[in-house]
Amino acid sequence: MGVAFHISAFLISVSCLVFTFIQNRYDKPQKKIYMVMVAILALNTVSEAAVEFAVPFQAESVIAQNLILVSKYFYFVLHAAVLPLLVYYVLRITGRSHRFTLLKHALFLIPVAVVDVLMLTNPLHHWCYYYEPVTFAYHRGWGVTALYVISVFYIAFFIGTLFSSWKAITQKRRLAMSYFLVMVIAGILVQMVLITARVELLAEAVAFLGVLLTVEDEGDLIDSDAGIYNRKAMRIDLGNLIANKQSFKILCVKVENAGVIRRATGSNNTDILASMLYRELVSIVPRYLIYRTAPDTFALILVGKHRASAEEAVHKLEERFKKGWSCNHTEVILSATIMLATVPEDIMTVEDAFNMTDGMLPLNHKKLLIGKEDLSYLIRRRMLERAIQQGLTQGRFEVYYQPTFDADGLRLVGAEALARLNDPQLGQLMPDEFIPLAEQIGLIGDLDDYVLYAACEFVTSGVPARIGIQSINVNLSVVQCIKPGFVEHIISIVDEAGVDHARINFEITESVDANDYAAMGAVINGFRQNGFRVYMDDYGTGFSNLRSLFSMDFNVIKIDKSLLWGAQESDLGRVILENNVRMLKQMDVKILVEGVETQEQIALLKELGVDYLQGFYFSKPVPENELISQYKYLDVPA
Ligand code: C2E
Ligand code: CA
Ligand code: CA
Repeated sequence: MGVAFHISAFLISVSCLVFTFIQNRYDKPQKKIYMVMVAILALNTVSEAAVEFAVPFQAESVIAQNLILVSKYFYFVLHAAVLPLLVYYVLRITGRSHRFTLLKHALFLIPVAVVDVLMLTNPLHHWCYYYEPVTFAYHRGWGVTALYVISVFYIAFFIGTLFSSWKAITQKRRLAMSYFLVMVIAGILVQMVLITARVELLAEAVAFLGVLLTVEDEGDLIDSDAGIYNRKAMRIDLGNLIANKQSFKILCVKVENAGVIRRATGSNNTDILASMLYRELVSIVPRYLIYRTAPDTFALILVGKHRASAEEAVHKLEERFKKGWSCNHTEVILSATIMLATVPEDIMTVEDAFNMTDGMLPLNHKKLLIGKEDLSYLIRRRMLERAIQQGLTQGRFEVYYQPTFDADGLRLVGAEALARLNDPQLGQLMPDEFIPLAEQIGLIGDLDDYVLYAACEFVTSGVPARIGIQSINVNLSVVQCIKPGFVEHIISIVDEAGVDHARINFEITESVDANDYAAMGAVINGFRQNGFRVYMDDYGTGFSNLRSLFSMDFNVIKIDKSLLWGAQESDLGRVILENNVRMLKQMDVKILVEGVETQEQIALLKELGVDYLQGFYFSKPVPENELISQYKYLDVPA
């Protein structure tokens, strides 16, 4: 019966080996240890099966006796090694192995080394076990007792490591390793009680199978064919290292123009990029420390490397990116941002590491190595991104209104809707910070819609009309405007709210790409034909003012505050403002000047004959209720 147990254990352990082998990741130390342990187990089962098989014949057959001797010998010699390996394994998966110094290794291995030497030399002294020559009776020596003692030591070490890293490892790993422990101990106990049930090795094999299915199952940690780990794997590994207070470096390579590969190959297969970079990256760290955190982004964990050698790796990469990469018989030039950060000096949390890999540096960023300031920029940026996303889903944007006045009678005529973001963590955020970001992450359309909804609601409340506000200006991002179906989309929002088109104006900044003039012109006409008025925002700040001015049919031009402020600073500034106003008046568009802060400015603008004024002199942008209370005395009948 014992043979059956051992054969089962053998089959299971061999299967574990085969499946680990198929994964093709035995470059990783953790896998190596796992495979060696399972291989030892498999050999042990062979030894034990041979013993079980030979015992019935031992009385008559010398061959059987020798088989038993040889099998037992290999069994003990190999078996002693499993336990320290097991500890090494748990050190690996908890990320603690890096803290194991050479001295610790030596001290740690002394017990097993002594016992193994005893086992190896047993034929000479029989201190461990002994078979009597004639009866072939088996006697245990103190060497086997020593083996049990060190087993207890290593198991205690295993348990200690597991529990002191409890928080640093994933739930799955905790469960897997606890199950492993219970299974192994249960096997030993059952075999002690029911001596004929030879389940110890079978239990071990099943325990290893459990580990294979959990810890060693990396299907969800590997980035497709490239065989490189993904962000989930990086999260686990970084979590382990950081929880163990390990200091290390993260090198991040972000390819900015991976699109060229798609163009060169005509395929969307993102693995091509990974295989192109693969050779360069593995020359820096082994494969198992390379992670692909996004299709175009790779992060490398550098453990035990000094700053100088890490920087050298960065420079080598930089040099490499100056040369072309061969891709589908053509050469492509890739541009990349390479970042290097030190943990825990620059980065202290897993989240911050992802802030680095996921963040975008400012477009004008030309430095290769990023420093602490860049990291805080990236971290802030990611926090803002999150704030914007959550702000939209959880309604944390608030719309402020800044009134506009008629220049003649200084009467309140309208108001501009301006977005604010109230984030529970970051406080109130201003558009300067979140608008450009919302444009980059593709949420500006949602934000503009949000503000438009709010403005429509405000109009429907009837309050603006009562205080003299004829219409509300809503800003639209150019990025959105030129998308197909944009005008229809915006109109549908206004119509849904049941707001008269004459009560909403749109402001668009004319910073358009030269090719998009036609598209922009169509958008403006689309709005105008539907009864909206369109304002050109920030006139005087771009370079293409005149071109867009002539090719597009705006109702009102908003002269940027810089032009007004410049007029007060120098004669030249004044000439520029005057001439611009004169030209615009001849073009038969209305003129609004923003940034009015003083009475002198008002006097100047009245003299020049502009139509509308807006600025802090009258009011800062304020929440709806403040606007109402400021102007309620006006309460004109609608
Ligand atoms: P903008 O459209 O040019 O808005 C005018 C900005 O100038 C506002 O800043 C306003 O507070 C400020 N301002 C007005 N009068 C004065 C003044 O007398 N002195 C000074 N120093 N500043 C004045 P804000 O609210 O921070 O908005 C900044 C920009 O963010 C806006 O510039 C606009 O381009 C953008 N923005 C705001 N809300 C939205 C929105 O809902 N959608 C889009 N697409 N953009 C928005
Ligand atoms: Ca505006
Ligand atoms: Ca403006």
